[in-house]
Amino acid sequence: MGGILSMKTVKDLVQAGLVNDGAGLEAVAQKYAVGITPAVVALIDRDDPNDPMARQFVPSAAELVQMPDERVDPIGDLTHSPVEGIVHRYPDRVLLKAVHVCPVYCRFCFRREMVGPQGLGTLTPGQMDAAVDYIASHSEIWEVILTGGDPLVLSPRRLRDMMVRLAGIEHIKIVRFHTRVPVVEPERVDAAMIDALTASGKTTYLAVHANHPREFTPEARAAMARMHAGGLALISQSVLLKGVNDDVETLAALMQRFVENRVQPYYLHHPDLAPGTSHFRVSIADGQALVAGLRGRISGLCQPTYVLDIPGGHGKADIRTAAISGGDGCFTVRDWQGGEHAYPPK
Ligand code: SF4
Repeated sequence: MGGILSMKTVKDLVQAGLVNDGAGLEAVAQKYAVGITPAVVALIDRDDPNDPMARQFVPSAAELVQMPDERVDPIGDLTHSPVEGIVHRYPDRVLLKAVHVCPVYCRFCFRREMVGPQGLGTLTPGQMDAAVDYIASHSEIWEVILTGGDPLVLSPRRLRDMMVRLAGIEHIKIVRFHTRVPVVEPERVDAAMIDALTASGKTTYLAVHANHPREFTPEARAAMARMHAGGLALISQSVLLKGVNDDVETLAALMQRFVENRVQPYYLHHPDLAPGTSHFRVSIADGQALVAGLRGRISGLCQPTYVLDIPGGHGKADIRTAAISGGDGCFTVRDWQGGEHAYPPK
């Protein structure tokens, strides 16, 4: 990607010809961070007004439209945060959010109010100590999920430090990373990073976030191959997005690309009620039809679980078939403890 820098301002986007008129976008950029890496710039088709790559990363005036049911914390992280940087929603696992910076800023991001230069920042050494102490003092925690932000923006040295600290906690058996880096900044995935990611000696999973088959460039595939060869178990994470992957052909190709690269399909997320993202949302009924369309058409290896993060922090619900339609686009979804919730929320 010799010489090309990441784009972080509307001016950068205008200069690169990614937007024609930046005037209307300054208000968007002031609200939600902008970030497009050289690898992603290379994927954008400037001649296609509906390009699925541009749609995911180039800001749009539609983000200024806020719907009444959208919310700052759509999946309820803050409701379950006992100490800074930890989300403890289910008994056996916690999220550890060490950093709120990403190499790219996805326009549909569910944590868009928390990430970016004006977001929640990076944990201070004291906050990291408190987060690790929390994990160490709760023996029911079996798995630590590093998310953010994108934890792979951290240097190998800082990643290694964190992993070595987790190595000392006996009851932690699994470490999991959620990241966009293998796709949007594949050159970052080098031997030093892989060594750091596996330094805990625990079984380590890495959830690769990709939403369109075009994201599997030769460089991204090579990064995934290095991670797999380095001992990381790879699983997938995608968001179902209108205008990006909401047709059976694209979704099927996306899941096949994951499997071809030894990434086991895991979650297909229903888009969350993040502010200014209504132009990305599909209905649950349409999502169910799409996922049903994958069955039979492509291998059993390629079938993701279609999930909804129930607004308010009630956790994930498998909505492949379990969401019950009440008509008029309203559904009843059941959380892991049996509680029933209306979706969209009333
Ligand atoms: S990489 Fe993840 S956390 Fe960062 S902007 Fe994209 S969806 Fe949000």
